[in-house]
Amino acid sequence: MGKVTGFKEFDRKTEPYRNAMERLVDYKEIYTSHDEALLNNQAARCMDCGVPFCQSDEGCPVYNLIPEWNDLIYKNRWKEALDRLHKTNNFPEFTGRVCPAPCEGACVLGINEPAVTIKNIECAIIDKGFENGWVVANPPQQRSGKKVAIVGSGPAGLAAAAQLNHAGHEVSVFERDDRIGGLLMYGIPNMKLEKDVVDRRVNLLREEGVKFVVNADVGGSGENGIDVDQLLAENDALLLATGATTPRNLNIPQRDGNGIHFAMEFLQKNTKSLLDSKLEDGNYLSAKDKNVIVIGGGDTGTDCIGTSLRHGCKSLVNFEIMPKPPIDRSDNNPWPLWPIIHRVDYGHEEATKKFGQDPRVYSISGKEFVRDDEGNLLGINTVEVDKHFKEIEGTIQFWEADLILLSMGFLGPEHYISNSLELELDGRSNYKAEYKDFQTSRAKVFAAGDCRRGQSLVVRAIDEGRLVAEEIDRFLLDE
Ligand SMILES: Cc1cc2nc3c(=O)[nH]c(=O)nc-3n(C[C@H](O)[C@H](O)[C@H](O)COP(=O)(O)OP(=O)(O)OC[C@H]3O[C@@H](n4cnc5c(N)ncnc54)[C@H](O)[C@@H]3O)c2cc1C
Ligand code: SF4
Repeated sequence: MGKVTGFKEFDRKTEPYRNAMERLVDYKEIYTSHDEALLNNQAARCMDCGVPFCQSDEGCPVYNLIPEWNDLIYKNRWKEALDRLHKTNNFPEFTGRVCPAPCEGACVLGINEPAVTIKNIECAIIDKGFENGWVVANPPQQRSGKKVAIVGSGPAGLAAAAQLNHAGHEVSVFERDDRIGGLLMYGIPNMKLEKDVVDRRVNLLREEGVKFVVNADVGGSGENGIDVDQLLAENDALLLATGATTPRNLNIPQRDGNGIHFAMEFLQKNTKSLLDSKLEDGNYLSAKDKNVIVIGGGDTGTDCIGTSLRHGCKSLVNFEIMPKPPIDRSDNNPWPLWPIIHRVDYGHEEATKKFGQDPRVYSISGKEFVRDDEGNLLGINTVEVDKHFKEIEGTIQFWEADLILLSMGFLGPEHYISNSLELELDGRSNYKAEYKDFQTSRAKVFAAGDCRRGQSLVVRAIDEGRLVAEEIDRFLLDE
């Protein structure tokens, strides 16, 4: 345990984000540099409880050894903390930046005091590790002679690649995009996760022996298409880690036509143009001088807000069909469950600073899009709803908009690859495979990450990637 009286002496203090108005003019990460003295005190707040719920099922999905590294940070033993962190998490530089930190929701100190700043400490450990050159490629000593193909290079595919490669298997990752990383690259924007952080890890995996093939659309019929049956025949196992990329639509009148886009089209094009040309090629959907409405909350909605603000939008509103969550946990949402409470994420803070009010409007639902005679988007009519989503009479309202971004979640994976392989699906259209087994209905074919469980979190994708690697390794050794 760090300091016996640490949790009594020190208040919770997170490392601040950069000033909202300053960070709005660039796409650099929102974080400030690490403050070791602060982190040392924060680590000292860890009580090393007998049963550390932070690393239980309700807490960290990869079971990070949180009390152990808190203790090591309090004692300034950073390199050992890094070794402990890498035991359970292949990519702490991703989770340390973007994880919503269910561990903190389950922290025992959180029962009656603010939780330990676990995520900040995780990020600082790995960032220091890279700064000091402690994170180096570690190729396997021996090769098994077995070949594994992984389809999809998001955190699930990358974690599985890392683990299978360490086990000595020959791993090739196929990605249909032009860059590796899945939603780490083309979903989560630069200001939350800079893309050289992703490239740095991919380069290490490459040095360790993982092969990456980009512009490779497995099961696709276009010019980049790769025959999935041939891929299966050429490999000893095939892992699908293709993500849950089918967006939920808003099927209300006047949906077709200009001005309405899925969030992912907006975010993906923005990051690609930013990386290709610093947004000079114009190959993105601009929100500049537009009245923007983002429909739907969550991380994706926040990222649309943050990106629209950086483009210089004229106004910004964010619709949420759910009622506003409470400030504190409600009675049916006790510790150690994930706290369902009102949160102010980076985009909400920025919009509030820029326009003087939080952009979110709650308990509201779209009725119909409004267009002029030529079909140009003018805005949307909405209606207020009660907590059962029943419309409240007399609450129809018109909202002006030039750009509407749909961020209402995802319906599961695309199905061209599962159709080619004739895979069974589950009731939610995901590729059917049990957690901790990951075997699909087709021999030699495994599935993990969002394509198996539905859109989730980076840390859950890493967890599934690590666990499916164990299953595939067992399968290959039994063959
Ligand atoms: C905008 C946005 C923001 C998010 N923010 C956060 C956040 O802040 N924190 C958090 O924890 N989670 C966040 N998430 C969720 C998180 O990114 C995902 O849960 C996670 O990336 C899932 O990992 P995955 O490896 O299963 O799939 P993905 O990351 O979706 O990767 C799947 C990859 O497979 C590729 N692919 C698909 N089909 C084929 C094919 N046939 N051939 C070749 N390649 C193929 C895709 O191009 C993609 O690159 C966010 C999601 C979105 C959309
Ligand atoms: S990965 Fe997420 S849940 Fe796990 S320790 Fe880090 S911040 Fe917490």
